[in-house]
Amino acid sequence: MPQHLVLVGGGHSHVGVLRAFARHRPANLAITLVSDRPVSLYSGMLPGHLAGLCPRAALEIPLAPLAAAAGARFVEATATGIDRAGQRLLLAGGEALPYAWLAVNIGITPDLAPIEGAREFACPVKPISRFLESTDAVSAALGQPGGPQSLAVIGGGVAAVELALAFRQVAGRVAGAPVAIAILARSGLVTRLNPRAQALVRAALARHAIRVVEGFDAIRVDGHGVTARDGRSEPAEAIIVATGARAPDWLASLGLPVAADGSLLVGPDLCSPEDERIFATGDCATMQESPREKAGVFAVRQGPVLAENLLRRAAGQALKAYHPQTAYLTLLSTGDGRAIAARGAFFALEGRWVALWKDWLDRRFVRPSVQPATGARADAISDR
Ligand SMILES: Cc1cc2nc3c(=O)[nH]c(=O)nc-3n(C[C@H](O)[C@H](O)[C@H](O)COP(=O)(O)OP(=O)(O)OC[C@H]3O[C@@H](n4cnc5c(N)ncnc54)[C@H](O)[C@@H]3O)c2cc1C
Repeated sequence: MPQHLVLVGGGHSHVGVLRAFARHRPANLAITLVSDRPVSLYSGMLPGHLAGLCPRAALEIPLAPLAAAAGARFVEATATGIDRAGQRLLLAGGEALPYAWLAVNIGITPDLAPIEGAREFACPVKPISRFLESTDAVSAALGQPGGPQSLAVIGGGVAAVELALAFRQVAGRVAGAPVAIAILARSGLVTRLNPRAQALVRAALARHAIRVVEGFDAIRVDGHGVTARDGRSEPAEAIIVATGARAPDWLASLGLPVAADGSLLVGPDLCSPEDERIFATGDCATMQESPREKAGVFAVRQGPVLAENLLRRAAGQALKAYHPQTAYLTLLSTGDGRAIAARGAFFALEGRWVALWKDWLDRRFVRPSVQPATGARADAISDR
């Protein structure tokens, strides 16, 4: 009798797991993929899409065919909790799915609680599907007569920079008065990148007339702009929130150990230390012994290890350990056909060929045309 494995969320790791299972279908598992959306949207290509460099379809990974190739059932539903004692995944609408093993890869969303009015007046960058729905209207109207003439991106990380640069391309398509674009960062700008890369980022922002306001701790937004804790305000008619994120609240109510951001703590085997049936990866998990920042590269790299550990767990074998790298490649699109590459303490480059390199890696992840024969590395994207 096959054991029931439920994969919750169509995140980067589960895409990798399903691709691995499509190559070698597990005989002893009946698999169900549960996702609140029929497609997984790849964030690495989101700025390029906004900037008009690729169509929406380029960042979509349809989940039903992916599940079918792996012999898995696809259920489009929102998970709302886990009944651990009864081994059931709870779904919105009151249904429940029994499981023997469960893997959670549902991502995180910006924490809007510290910013009053954010729900009403701002577009949070995650979930990406909702972000695209709300920014379609912004993109269409930005700079047009009667549309927003100013845009603020709250956040100081790579995503905030890429989005500001992408919206500059959107605004640039409109003749007339230039749209004012600002990045409002609580502390510094892209501080996890090395100093050379930071300088390239600042130069790109200056080239595109994007103002950077640092030390701006946004606490309120309304129809006129953004207010900081120290009383400063920045006018903005369109506001994007790309700040630090929190895991969905229900993860913290499972009685399992969680990190400060509400993500599930996992061991090197990607399993909860308190429940051998529950695995978690990507942004909604924190590796207890080697915590890393939330980045898609880790979600991708965890995929093959998760696939193997789910098989091993079901077979009663010892699990493999995942060892996350300390340095990884960041490829930041500047929206103008160029990109910045950064890795470790010194490496930083900018150019058109970097954008081509990023595009090649991104497209290979979304549509891998050549599947690795061994299954050892399902992550064609490698670093992002
Ligand atoms: C603009 C932007 C650019 C970025 N660029 C980079 C980059 O270049 N490099 C990098 O490493 N990182 C980048 N990131 C960060 C990256 O997006 C995240 O780290 C990555 O998406 C995390 O992947 P994940 O698999 O954990 O979750 P996600 O990709 O968020 O996937 C979660 C999935 O679960 C589904 N889901 C959510 N809740 C539920 C539920 N309750 N029930 C069922 N399904 C659910 C969602 O629909 C989604 O398909 C960027 C982020 C942004 C916003």
